[in-house]
Amino acid sequence: MEPDYFSLRMHASVEGAHLSGAERLLLPADLEGAVQELVRRALAHPAGQADAIRLNIDRVESARLSRGMLPDLRTLLVADVVEGRAAVHQLLRRTGVTDVAIKSAMTAMAQGAAGAGRNMRGAMLVDAVSGERREPDKERGVRASRMDLAPRAAELLDQELAALGLGHRNVREALVLAGKVSQAPGVVAELCWSDDPDYSAGYVCSGSLGYLRLPHLKTCGDPHGGRAFFITPGTAVEPLMDWLQACPVLFEQIGRCHPAIPWREYAP
Ligand code: AMP
Repeated sequence: MEPDYFSLRMHASVEGAHLSGAERLLLPADLEGAVQELVRRALAHPAGQADAIRLNIDRVESARLSRGMLPDLRTLLVADVVEGRAAVHQLLRRTGVTDVAIKSAMTAMAQGAAGAGRNMRGAMLVDAVSGERREPDKERGVRASRMDLAPRAAELLDQELAALGLGHRNVREALVLAGKVSQAPGVVAELCWSDDPDYSAGYVCSGSLGYLRLPHLKTCGDPHGGRAFFITPGTAVEPLMDWLQACPVLFEQIGRCHPAIPWREYAP
């Protein structure tokens, strides 16, 4: 019988502001090493050293795990942030998100979606038609948690990503998060760019498009970033938030990892 897993969640902050977070699902033998790695990460973040690190560890019965497959990944090459954001706009339009919803999400992310120039800890829930923000707490947002790769899938994905020159941990973690979010009931598409000032890449992900990574969605040095989960109008927010936060998803299979192509040549 397969042993139970543990959910490990890390949140690090400085003076109450979000600094870094991570979500893992691990077999007991891998837990201690992962705790050490996440503490180290919080203490050596490029944006500063954490002054508070919270770790939560909860057992997850293996029978409760939902087993899934990651979306396919492709990098679409863009020259700069202007082309990157224009590409994002067109991609999201293809998933049915309206102009007004795209603009409202991107404006919030570019300014710090928590207000007063601050980044959110989690994601915005944006009505895909009206652009209205539906998350109850505009600072915390919604956190997707309790998702990870099974050990064999992690090994395979690391090999594929390294072969494409995408060995950065951010890519792997974002792909897993996006894989869970794209399966969520009511979610149409997701947009993300990092709040790490040294990391300018971001992505659009949906069930139909897969995970499309764009190398420039902000300029280097910009500390603002965020996530928007675009949802179908009328989606009940509480059950969606519960699913995103609590339903454990383990990816046992990876999707296809395609080589990069210029954005203009992308024809799904
Ligand atoms: P990161 O890619 O870690 O730099 O995160 C970029 C932004 O995405 C953060 O500022 C948060 O707003 C949001 N975010 C980070 N982790 C999560 C998560 N687990 N669930 C939802 N949103 C997240």
